[in-house]
Formats: sequence, C-alpha cells, structure tokens
Amino acid sequence: MAKNVSDAVVIGGGIIGTATGYYLAKKGLKVYLFEKDYLTAGSTGRCIGGIRQQFSTETSITVAMEAMKKFKNLHEELEQDVEFLPGGYLFLAHSKEKEDTYKKLIELQSSMSLAVEYVDVPRIEKLVPGINTQGLLGGAYCPSDAQANPFLIVDGYAKGIMRNGKVFTHMEVTNINVKNGMAESITTKNGDTYSAGIIVNATGPLLKYVAKLAGIDVPAEPERHEAMITEPMERFFDMMIVDYRPDGCYFNQKWGKGSIIGCYTPIPTVPGLDIGTSFIFAKEMGRRMARLIPKLKNIKIIRQWSGSYAMTPDGNPVLDRTAVENFWVVGGMCGHGFMLGPEIGWIAAEYICAGKPPYDINEFSLQRDFKGKEVMK
Ligand SMILES: Cc1cc2nc3c(=O)[nH]c(=O)nc-3n(C[C@H](O)[C@H](O)[C@H](O)COP(=O)(O)OP(=O)(O)OC[C@H]3O[C@@H](n4cnc5c(N)ncnc54)[C@H](O)[C@@H]3O)c2cc1C
Repeated sequence: MAKNVSDAVVIGGGIIGTATGYYLAKKGLKVYLFEKDYLTAGSTGRCIGGIRQQFSTETSITVAMEAMKKFKNLHEELEQDVEFLPGGYLFLAHSKEKEDTYKKLIELQSSMSLAVEYVDVPRIEKLVPGINTQGLLGGAYCPSDAQANPFLIVDGYAKGIMRNGKVFTHMEVTNINVKNGMAESITTKNGDTYSAGIIVNATGPLLKYVAKLAGIDVPAEPERHEAMITEPMERFFDMMIVDYRPDGCYFNQKWGKGSIIGCYTPIPTVPGLDIGTSFIFAKEMGRRMARLIPKLKNIKIIRQWSGSYAMTPDGNPVLDRTAVENFWVVGGMCGHGFMLGPEIGWIAAEYICAGKPPYDINEFSLQRDFKGKEVMK
C-alpha cells in the first residue's frame, strides 16, 4: 500500500473516532486517524465519565445496554485497566410528573431485561446517607449503571488502531476531497493528502463544520457544558445522583479517592463553541450539591472546566452514510457520547463494512425528521 493510502480515514480522536477506528481495525482494516490537537482534547477528555442505560426508546436502551456489555469487558479487550466501576445511576423524582415518567420508562426498560427499580425515600436514604429528602418522592435506580475513565479507554482504542494503522495528532484535516460525488481523500493542515475508500467524520462538536468540508449538512450544534471536581472525600455513595429539578445537578464519587465530579445543564443553554468557565457555575454547583446533600456544604471545589455537547434537535446521535459516497458521519452525541461510545463505534464499523447496520438504528439516520425527543436527557 502506498504511503498515504489506507483503508479508512477517521477524523477525530475522541471516544467516537477512536472506537470506530478500533473496531474497523479489528476487522482487519488499515486505519489512519487524524486528530487536530491531542487524543481526548475534545469533549471526551472533559466529560465526567458516567455510563447509564436508562434511556427512553428501544433503540437507545439497546445501544446503551450493548455499550455496557462492552465496557464491562474493555479491560480485557484493551488489555489495560479502564477504571470501570458499576455504582449505578439514581434519577431523583421531586415531582409527580417525574415519578410518572420514570415508572412508565421502567416498564419499557424492564421489558428489555434492564434491571431498573423505582425506589422509595427510605431506600434512597440508605443508598445516599445524609440526602435531603425534602420534596423527594422517590427515584429510578439502575444498579448496573457505572463510571469509567475516558482517557484510559481512548488510549486503549488508539493503541488498537496503531497495531495496523496510524494515529496522527496535532494534524487538522482541512479538506475532504470529493470527486464525482465520492469522497476520495483528505488534506491536512500540512498540505498532505491521504486517500482511503472510507472517510469517517467523528469530530464531536465540530461535526457539522467538518461535514461541510464535503458539502454535507448535519444538524448538530455545539453547546457549552461546565463541570467541576472536588477534593477527595471518603466514599459514602456509589452511584451518579441526578437531581432532575430545573435547578438541579448531577454528580458521582470518582473511582479511587472519592472526589466528587459533576455538572448541571444551564437554563438557558449556552450555544456556540466557547469553552470558557464561569464563576456562576462554581457557585451554583456548590449550592445545588449542598442543598441535596447538606454535608457537602464545606467540600472544596479544586478544579472547574467546560466542554461541548454536540446537540441534535431530537437528542439522538447521527450514525449514517451521507449523500457523498464513502463519507460517513458519526456523532451528535448530545451528552451521551462516552456512555454510548463503544457500541456506536462498533455499530459504525459493522455498518461501514457490511453496508447495513447490525440492527435497527433508524433513529440515528441523517434522513430522520428530528422531531422526536429523548426523554432521559
Ligand atoms: C462537562 C461534560 C460532561 C459530560 N459527561 C458525560 C458523561 O458523564 N457521560 C457521557 O456519556 N458523556 C458525557 N459528556 C458528553 C461526551 O463527552 C461527548 O458526548 C463525547 O465525548 C463525544 O465524543 P466525540 O468523540 O464525538 O467528540 P470529541 O471527544 O469532541 O472528539 C472529537 C475530536 O475531533 C477533533 N477534531 C475536530 N475537528 C477536527 C479536524 N478538522 N481535524 C482533526 N481533528 C478534528 C477534536 O479536536 C476532538 O478531539 C460530557 C460532556 C461534557 C462537556
């Protein structure tokens, strides 16, 4: 094979690009992956590592459950620890409306053999000692939900790609070269051209901009999300706690020393590519955590940062071929890219190689009407 020729070019060194590249490489393809900064420089290195299966449609639940199977096995698959910790996810209900939504979803989730239960307040007090139960009605608890380390997983996937291919970092793709409706190659910022029969756009928040290089429109808008981590604290709860009130937040205790890591979704949301940080977030996040668990009142935030979600109008990913032959888009992960990443990468590789997806993923089609809504956002 000539120097600048591979079977597949993957653009983007986050969880989606590296997972897709890894599963393509596992099928025997020579994969060249291009990352404009360093691996995990995008959203993946900024996420808080939560993995859940509590979604609201058959497709999203299936993908999340299949992803979980892969997470459980990743330390063997990648031959390195990935700090997988199955501590669960607990969605709190502070309103009758939320309670009804969870109970309805639990029917669907249970019918698909996902063990989720509606837990009452005394049970929640046992699960989260010291929780403030004022206004609390109950919660949806899935003990098999988990957390893992995004850096270790991307590293493991990248090593897999490099066994038969290459990972180029600090190498921005500046053009996708299309001839007669077919993507033939990419050009990098250095002016070098690399050709491949498969070109995958997995550029996270920049998905729509990179798709445009090939003349393709993708409805995925970047949106800023802030996060923080505290000093370590002796472990006293295991799960990701999601306070779903409009002024709520979500957080868990990390693997290891037990620092608390968390976020909230601001109202209104913050569209655009800015990934600066704000004082209001640090202040509010502290207030919201301490309202829910008063003993967190004096814990110190030691770091805050932000990253982007790539938001589609309906909250579901995009995983599809495009009108440009050989050019694929995989992304628009809407805040779920880490947890779904291993399965999305696997599906992408299967779809690309077999020409059809391994199971029904019409909800992820680029041609869908985007009018639905993922309820468990
Ligand atoms: C604060 C925060 C908390 C989150 N928490 C969670 C969580 O708990 N669980 C969860 O599942 N998800 C979470 N997410 C969402 C998750 O981080 C994303 O959905 C996921 O990382 C998306 O992965 P990706 O590979 O699509 O994008 P990215 O990780 O952004 O990777 C895309 C890469 O493409 C590169 N790139 C872009 N343009 C080019 C170009 N032209 N040439 C070469 N390279 C290019 C970028 O530099 C980037 O590294 C969180 C996100 C944020 C911001």
